[in-house]
Amino acid sequence: HVKSRGKNGFAFYDGSLSIPLHHRADMERLLRNALDKGEFELHYQPQIHLGGPRVDGLEALIRWNSPELGRVAPDEFIRIAEETQLIVPIGEWVLRTACQFIRAIHENGNEKPMISVNVSVVQLIGQRYVERVLDILRETGLEPRYLELEITESMVIESLDLIADKLRRLREQGVNIALDDFGRGFSSLSHLMRLPITTLKIDKSFIEQIPDSMDIQPLTGLIIRLAQGMGLKVIAEGVETYFQLDYLKKYECDCIQGYLFSKPLTAIMAREWVKTVSLPIT
Ligand code: C2E
Ligand code: MG
Ligand code: MG
Ligand code: MG
Repeated sequence: HVKSRGKNGFAFYDGSLSIPLHHRADMERLLRNALDKGEFELHYQPQIHLGGPRVDGLEALIRWNSPELGRVAPDEFIRIAEETQLIVPIGEWVLRTACQFIRAIHENGNEKPMISVNVSVVQLIGQRYVERVLDILRETGLEPRYLELEITESMVIESLDLIADKLRRLREQGVNIALDDFGRGFSSLSHLMRLPITTLKIDKSFIEQIPDSMDIQPLTGLIIRLAQGMGLKVIAEGVETYFQLDYLKKYECDCIQGYLFSKPLTAIMAREWVKTVSLPIT
């Protein structure tokens, strides 16, 4: 059924998802002003290093609080932001805000967790991307080794050489590069080896199969071994159960990210979490 959404248009409720699928033109129009109107917010999800255990990093995840549309999930608007190039200014705002946030954490505590920021291919192939990142690092006073940029494999295939070159220049300055969502779709080791990546993030579609599939279990372990053999840090995404945690510990996965430890938190909550959390996982 179709539900009216005031004078701005309609929200279509898809029976299977119960997510309102807003009229594309509406969303695009509202997205154009969202940055200036201060409607974006970053949430931060902790990444726990099992060796400590300690907070190794925090992933910045964008939230859009639209007065007209309500809370819009990134999966609903990032694609439109990419198609309209709006992702370029939005992505710069994300990077600057995330760098400022982690600087504040470093200044107020003993721990120095990293900040991970998702990057779109549209940003990467854009003009002067490397320079823009380095400018923001200088401007916020964050050392490059505390920044990790997350890229996804599906997006790099089209312009692999250009992207590999830009990432290499960032890597030379000390920025860390993570391959996000590994194993979600088509994954190619030869692509992987042409990119200067430092971290592999195993997609939650793999992790969620741990409890009930004997086939996936050894494969996940194998990916961990293989990645570590290449000198990469491995992060498991979407860890929700102690069973999954035990399994990942057994295979010596470096880091865990998921609802088991924490959902993405507001900046204030995340700061508090880093300061006060005690991890019951040794
Ligand atoms: P991602 O980079 O793979 O981020 C992880 C997503 O998994 C987040 O969804 C997070 O909330 C969710 N997640 C974390 N732990 C669990 C868990 O235990 N179980 C389940 N079911 N989910 C978990 P979110 O925040 O909705 O973001 C979705 C995607 O949107 C991100 O996937 C990323 O690709 C994109 N995104 C988010 N923020 C940005 C941004 O600032 N820039 C760009 N370009 N993309 C972004
Ligand atoms: Mg990510
Ligand atoms: Mg991502
Ligand atoms: Mg991911």
